[in-house]
Amino acid sequence: MAETERLLEVIRGRNAKTVGLQFPVGLRTKAVELAQDLEAQAGVTCLVSADPSFGACDVADMPVDLIVHLGHAPMPHLRYRKVFFYDLPGPPLTSMDFVDAAEPMLPARVGLVTTTQYRHWLPKIRERLEAKGHVVRIGDPDRRVAYAGQLLGCDYHTATVIEADVDGYLYIGTGDFHPLGVAILIDKPVIIADPERGTARDLKEVRDRVLRQRHAAIARAHDASVFGIIVSKKIGQERLEAAKDLKALAEKHGKQANIFLMDLVAPDLLEGYRVDAWVNTACPRIAIEDVLQYKKPILTPPEFEIVLGERTWDAYALDEIRA
Ligand code: SF4
Repeated sequence: MAETERLLEVIRGRNAKTVGLQFPVGLRTKAVELAQDLEAQAGVTCLVSADPSFGACDVADMPVDLIVHLGHAPMPHLRYRKVFFYDLPGPPLTSMDFVDAAEPMLPARVGLVTTTQYRHWLPKIRERLEAKGHVVRIGDPDRRVAYAGQLLGCDYHTATVIEADVDGYLYIGTGDFHPLGVAILIDKPVIIADPERGTARDLKEVRDRVLRQRHAAIARAHDASVFGIIVSKKIGQERLEAAKDLKALAEKHGKQANIFLMDLVAPDLLEGYRVDAWVNTACPRIAIEDVLQYKKPILTPPEFEIVLGERTWDAYALDEIRA
C-alpha cells in the first residue's frame, strides 16, 4: 500500500526504533497486521495504544520515536510532535443509490458536507446533483478542519461558511452526530444520505428529539448550586481558559464551580464527587450522545450559559471547539 511505503520512508528518515500505533475502534482489526508489517519491514518495535482514539484531537502520549495515527485527518491548527497521519483510502464509490434517494428531498441550492472518510466522493456527488439541476456548494476548510466539506462533531465551519448560498444541506455519512450541529445551528433542512444502507432521511426528527433531551438536562441543572467543570487533557479538546471563564461566570451568579482535569471523560470516573451538575468543555459529543449514562446532568458550555441566565433558549447552539 502506498501509504505504508510513505510511512516506511518516514521511519527510516527519522531513524525511529519504536513506533506507536493509534487506531479508532472501527480500525482495530488492522492493528496486529500493521504492527507485524512494520516490525518485519522496518525492524522497529511497535506499541499499539489500547486506549480509545476519538479523533485528531486525541493523539496518544507514547514513549516512542514516532506515533502513527490512523482514521482521522490532522487538525491544521495543532502542532503535533512526531506524529504521522496514516491516510487510509476511503471506500470506493460503487453506487449512487443513496444520493438518488436523497435528491427528491433536496432544495435547489445544496451544501455538501461529510466526514473525512467520504471526502473523495464529493466531486462525483456534486456532478450528479448538478446534472439534476441543483446548485451545489462545498465549504472551504479552515483552522480545525483539513478538507473542503469536512464536518467534525465539534466544528461546523464548512457548513456555516456557505450558509447564505444554500437552502439546505446534504450530509454524506452514516451517523447523526456530525450533521446534528448544523441542523440545530442553521434553520434549514439537513438530509442524510447513508452510503452503507443506500438510503436517505431527514434529520429533523432526531434534531427535535435531541433538543427535547437538552431542554430536560438544562431544566434538571437549574437548581444545582455546585458545578464541576470538566477540562480535557487531550491536545485538541483542552479548553482550560474557557473553563476558567465559566467558573468566574458561575461565581458571578452565586454558584460554586470547580474545575476537574481528566483525559478520558467517562461516567464512572466522575462518581463520588459532591457536585450537583457537570459542565463539559471536552469533546461536545459526550454531553449529547452519552447523556443517559450520567447520573447527574451534564451540560455543554452554551447550555450552562442558559442555566445561568446569560443566554436564552432561543439562542441554543450545540457546542463547538473553535479556538
Ligand atoms: S473533539 Fe470530539 S467531535 Fe471534535 S474531533 Fe475530537 S472527538 Fe471529534
